[in-house]
Amino acid sequence: MPGNLIDTPAHRFAPGADALARALAADLPADVVRPDAPVTAISRRTAGGLEVRTPSSVLCAEDVVVAVPPALALARIDFGSQMSPGLARLARTTPVWMGTVAKVVARYPAPFWRDAGLAGAAVSRTGPLRELHDMSGPGGRPAALFGFAPAQAVGPDFEQAVTAQLTRLFGPAAAQPETLHIQNWSGEPWTAPPTVHHLTDYFLFGHPLYRQPALEGGLHWAATETATQYAGHIEGALAAAERAVTAALTTKETNPCSR
Ligand SMILES: Cc1cc2nc3c(=O)[nH]c(=O)nc-3n(C[C@H](O)[C@H](O)[C@H](O)COP(=O)(O)OP(=O)(O)OC[C@H]3O[C@@H](n4cnc5c(N)ncnc54)[C@H](O)[C@@H]3O)c2cc1C
Repeated sequence: MPGNLIDTPAHRFAPGADALARALAADLPADVVRPDAPVTAISRRTAGGLEVRTPSSVLCAEDVVVAVPPALALARIDFGSQMSPGLARLARTTPVWMGTVAKVVARYPAPFWRDAGLAGAAVSRTGPLRELHDMSGPGGRPAALFGFAPAQAVGPDFEQAVTAQLTRLFGPAAAQPETLHIQNWSGEPWTAPPTVHHLTDYFLFGHPLYRQPALEGGLHWAATETATQYAGHIEGALAAAERAVTAALTTKETNPCSR
């Protein structure tokens, strides 16, 4: 809304952020995207190329792009002893952006705060939600407010504390949301490693080691945490992916998997 200093100009995926991944995947040949095949191990083959293991298959690849938060990759994927100790230490200690937050969405029959001239945005220190925004759809339908809370604040009294805070900020109409969705990202096994609450050095984002192919070449990092600009954001993930693909396309080894 005019005069709202918290929400800087930005774009929203009206159908949801997964629309981006789905649209990219739609252009790929069938069977290329395998969502139920988590990678469990990556190693360099003596004959050349990299071996990628999943619970149900073993693949050989000239290049592998790891588009997984580095700390999560180290927790879930066995790189054996081939990864340099410096890179392994860096990856294990790089934070996962938003990996320690819970996102709360409160849905209402109408965006009542707009009628009161309120933007639906706030920075708060008087409840579990620290940063709040208007999350309504086009034309205010559906009407919703969302906020981020530290994941560790989620407990038995969490919902009550959230609605009390929303009421303090936006008035009595906020006291009874139609629904309250709580998504704790720190507990998602494919987003955050078990160590996520101990990873705090955000200066490791975009570290130069992430720009060097690993495992003697062929292993490229493309997670948003490895980007030099906009690390943590979708824009950072896209930039890191462009860097990784450019590096992969200039790899010299040809068809090592035929050997
Ligand atoms: C609550 C929240 C709000 C956010 N809000 C914004 C925002 O407003 N704007 C913005 O720009 N960004 C936002 N972000 C950040 C944005 O989601 C990330 O920057 C982006 O998703 C990073 O993309 P990525 O490809 O690096 O990694 P991810 O999106 O994390 O993708 C990694 C993928 O790897 C998969 N995976 C994990 N382990 C394995 C394995 N072993 N084998 C195979 N696959 C594996 C995962 O399932 C996942 O699909 C937000 C994040 C959160 C959690």
